Amino acid sequence: MTMAAKIAVIPGDGIGSEVTEACLQVLEASGVALEFQNYHAGDYCLERFGRALPEETLAGALEAQAVLFGAAGASAAEVILRLRAELGTYVNLRPAKAFRGVECLYPSCDIMIVRENTECLYAGIESRLTADVATATRLITRGASRRIALSAFEYARQNGRKKVTAVHKVNVLRKTDALFLECCREVAKDYPQVAYEEGLVDSVAMRLVMDPSAYDVIVTTNLFGDILSDLAAGLIGGLGLCPSANLGDEHALFEPVHGSAPDIAGQGLANPSASIMCGAMLLRHLGHTAQAEKIEKALAAAIAAKEATPDLGGGLKTMQMAQAVIARM
Ligand code: ATP
Repeated sequence: MTMAAKIAVIPGDGIGSEVTEACLQVLEASGVALEFQNYHAGDYCLERFGRALPEETLAGALEAQAVLFGAAGASAAEVILRLRAELGTYVNLRPAKAFRGVECLYPSCDIMIVRENTECLYAGIESRLTADVATATRLITRGASRRIALSAFEYARQNGRKKVTAVHKVNVLRKTDALFLECCREVAKDYPQVAYEEGLVDSVAMRLVMDPSAYDVIVTTNLFGDILSDLAAGLIGGLGLCPSANLGDEHALFEPVHGSAPDIAGQGLANPSASIMCGAMLLRHLGHTAQAEKIEKALAAAIAAKEATPDLGGGLKTMQMAQAVIARM
């Protein structure tokens, strides 16, 4: 008998708890042996206990095999940035795949953005030199660039993807992006079965909007990845359908891209799709590929049949949509 994998569940604020509950029901229905442990974090936690991310939550996340996160409100940066840092999750996987039945610009869009999660302009090296001058340092290292390039090519190899595009701005960022590209090129040599190309971030942004089928897997630095992955979310119909994974060598954290949506919280209006897809990514991460696919197929079928929340054109509440997905599994 295999031991149940320990999953730390951090529902957080607003609709975070609703969509996470929906995801948990779907995961339970998948039949995979998982042991869930709930933890507090977020704005309500700051109010109640004086900390947005209690030590107990952090310890639970560190101990678990994977973390399922919901959403955090105003304290999101504090909670999620600290979790990512402590868990050492240097990869941010941001899929943008369109669903049949959801109106969007590009119904056949299917892109995976592999974003470096620890450095670049987000390394936090900023100075206010004078009242009128401020600087930020763009940190790019060989270690982080190599491991993100490796993650992208490994993702491509394991998921039958055909091409990796490294996105950069080397004509302006001559030193930092030269190093980033050097690492991507080196890693690309070890994956002859995956095509490799490079694209300037500005032209990639334009081409993504005009013809996203030109891209398959995109690997890029932190800031470009942040912007392009939201752009890609727009191509497929918005944040309600976008999961994300934060992966490191020892830990993994899965979170919907959307926030706590206080405007609709507590009304059963939240679309649980992103969280349910997080659940599927979590299963795939733990090696339960068949069950992950089952969830993804059931979710796609439910969405296509409009067995979904109002934002997807359906008439179901959050938990009813979870039940519809389960019924199709
Ligand atoms: P936060 O401060 O936590 O980021 P926010 O409201 O500023 O919250 P989002 O939570 O991303 O940012 O919400 C943006 C808009 O999208 C809101 O109008 C919200 O109702 C809607 N929205 C976000 N997620 C969902 C969802 N899962 N289902 C339905 N609507 C959603």
